[in-house]
Formats: sequence, structure tokens, C-alpha cells
Amino acid sequence: MADKTLNCKDCNNDFVFTEGEQAFYKEKGFENEPQRCPDCRKARKSQRNNSRGGFGGGGRSFGGGNRW
Ligand SMILES: [Zn+2]
Repeated sequence: MADKTLNCKDCNNDFVFTEGEQAFYKEKGFENEPQRCPDCRKARKSQRNNSRGGFGGGGRSFGGGNRW
């Protein structure tokens, strides 16, 4: 295996799909090569996280029920 140069779908920059990453992809069973450079992948990820809206403030109190 050797490093591969791929072209990012988002920013059109070339990026390296390293041997290690290829092995990782194989191990995970991914058949497709990455479409985006690491930067764009990171950007997408953090975007998704932001739109998720964080933690819900769980207002449920513990052990308040009349179980017995
Ligand atoms: Zn990119």
C-alpha cells in the first residue's frame, strides 16, 4: 500500500489519503475513499455538532417516585 493523493469534493484541494488511513478504512469495512480533506471533514463534523443544540437540561429528579 502507498499513500494516495485524492481531491477534496468541497474545497477542491488535493489531500493525502495515507497508508494508515487506508488501513483504517479497510478495517472499518468502508469501500469508498474519503471524499473530503481532513479540514473539510472536521468542519462538517463541528457544524453537525453545533446544530445538534447541546445537552438537554434533564429536569427529572431521582428517586422521587412512590414505588412501594
Ligand atoms: Zn477540503
